[in-house]
Amino acid sequence: MVAKTLSSYRLTSLEQTIKQLNQENCLIIAGGTDVMVLHKNRRGVPPKITKPVVFIDHLSELKQVYAIKTDLHIGACSTYSELIQHPLIPEVLKKAIKEIAAPAIRNRGTIGGNICNASPAGDTLPLLYIYNTKLLLRSVNGDRLVEIKDFIQGPRRVQRSNNEILVEVILPSALENDSRIIFEKIANRRADAIAKISFAGFLHVQNEMISDARFAFGAVGPTIVRSLDIEQILYGKAHPLDHKLINAIVQEYGNLIHPIDDQRSTAIYRKTVALKLLRYFLETKGM
Ligand SMILES: Cc1cc2nc3c(=O)[nH]c(=O)nc-3n(C[C@H](O)[C@H](O)[C@H](O)COP(=O)(O)OP(=O)(O)OC[C@H]3O[C@@H](n4cnc5c(N)ncnc54)[C@H](O)[C@@H]3O)c2cc1C
Repeated sequence: MVAKTLSSYRLTSLEQTIKQLNQENCLIIAGGTDVMVLHKNRRGVPPKITKPVVFIDHLSELKQVYAIKTDLHIGACSTYSELIQHPLIPEVLKKAIKEIAAPAIRNRGTIGGNICNASPAGDTLPLLYIYNTKLLLRSVNGDRLVEIKDFIQGPRRVQRSNNEILVEVILPSALENDSRIIFEKIANRRADAIAKISFAGFLHVQNEMISDARFAFGAVGPTIVRSLDIEQILYGKAHPLDHKLINAIVQEYGNLIHPIDDQRSTAIYRKTVALKLLRYFLETKGM
């Protein structure tokens, strides 16, 4: 039997790549660390990829990291190793990145790939949700901006047309540095292990009153769990928070979070630890 050949493209510019995506329904490969696992085959046999492939990992247009005022713009094809080294990346995001996989994967894996793969256990996602991240998508028809919470619709399901490419990940006001932000990942090991649960918290306090509160939970549902309604309960409340209010907030998330049992953890463990992480964050007094 003659093996089927697969077309692949490694074009010299983003513009050519976008034109190619418009001509043919192609599979985009950035670092390939999710794509290759998803399409893996028996040892020695080519991966089960059925569409033409477009490589984007070499495109310098997708690797720019820069600030506009306090907004942080991250090129979708920036690898984790590049982001760890970059002076503009907030320390809390670097902490999350350092807990992803091992150095070989961090040298290949990209932030855009983590978003487009849309795993609820993706380690950059809880922080990207609480930064109210906007995604810049480009096609031959022009650019569009979409909020990350609208873009990600379920595991491996994103709101992207076949002719679009994720160009930039924009974190509004991420460089303001006046809020308390944490990221915690619970897994079998400190790194090189997929999250059982992850949590990101954001608190901004002005004149001892909460003016902004944001919480995001990873690996406890099909997408990252965030509730603007619950967050708003905290607006205008005195900080440090009193215990009655903390209990009420934890109870609200207890009603919202419905994790599943799987090979990595149990539903009860996930829920218990997720709520403990939230309580720990709310009970911490300093800013
Ligand atoms: C051993 C191992 C350990 C891992 N550990 C972790 C971990 O601890 N935490 C974690 O979060 N992840 C982990 N991962 C998953 C993976 O490394 C990350 O999700 C990574 O960010 C994927 O990026 P990539 O560039 O390799 O994506 P790819 O595999 O190239 O692409 C992933 C998906 O996104 C699409 N895509 C990529 N870039 C774009 C773009 N710019 N525009 C449109 N679509 C795009 C692709 O078509 C594909 O559907 C691990 C993977 C492996 C193999």
